[in-house]
Amino acid sequence: MKSLRLDHFALIIAIAAIVALSLWPLKSHGEGGDHEEDGHGAGGDAGGGHSAAHWSYAGAEGPEHWGDLSPDYAACKAGRMQSPINIAAGATGLSAAASGNDYTYQAAPLSILHNGHTVQLNYAPGSSMSVQGEKYDLLQFHFHAPSEHTVDGKPYPMEAHFVHKDSHGGLAVVGVLIEEGAANAALAEAWTHLPAHETPEQMIADVSVNASAVLPADGRYHHYKGSLTTPPCSEGVRWFVLAEPISMSAAQIKKFEDAAGPNARPVQPLNARLLIGSD
Ligand SMILES: [Zn+2]
Repeated sequence: MKSLRLDHFALIIAIAAIVALSLWPLKSHGEGGDHEEDGHGAGGDAGGGHSAAHWSYAGAEGPEHWGDLSPDYAACKAGRMQSPINIAAGATGLSAAASGNDYTYQAAPLSILHNGHTVQLNYAPGSSMSVQGEKYDLLQFHFHAPSEHTVDGKPYPMEAHFVHKDSHGGLAVVGVLIEEGAANAALAEAWTHLPAHETPEQMIADVSVNASAVLPADGRYHHYKGSLTTPPCSEGVRWFVLAEPISMSAAQIKKFEDAAGPNARPVQPLNARLLIGSD
């Protein structure tokens, strides 16, 4: 009888240990952001599945310390091609001829999550962007408040990042600056489902979102080679920051700020890079 009880006790300990071990990586995986800007590329690059070091936007785990939090995050400190950057309006070759990348975005079912760092809308396969003949699939878009890229040293209230990947794993991100103004109709329905705190991916039945309706009319951009703006700060990301901002109402901006802001990495040195305008 006594030994039976001991067996039971041992069994309970073993089950508790298995549960604890199986939850641990799930938790840190979620925080590392499986689908984050970063997540899609970073999962592989940084050896993703195992526990990524926790990071945040302030204090001891804030942007100034990201490079010291884990060897996986070394690029955050040592990288010479980091994002975001300041865009000096006069320093770009942005031309008057309207052109840009080719977007073939379709409407997709609304799939929304809060990963502890941002609110993200995952995108169903079938939407893509063409950059000089090269196809990049749209994976997701998410938001930062205030904006990460600044223009002449000034941030916008928010910025959206449309994250794309090509067939070789190369990442291209389209940054769209968001100013305060008219309510954004294309995001209105998504915003009614905006999670107020960390929440797993939710598919919202009968609600769709169209990323093409979120983009501004003018496709001209500032292009440069940069990085993920969150750990592990991997480089080799093709950035296209659109010149024309879109708008959101003060209430829409506040709803995001209350849920996930502030979540902007400070601007990084341009170093030897060129900022190129579309033409
Ligand atoms: Zn981002």
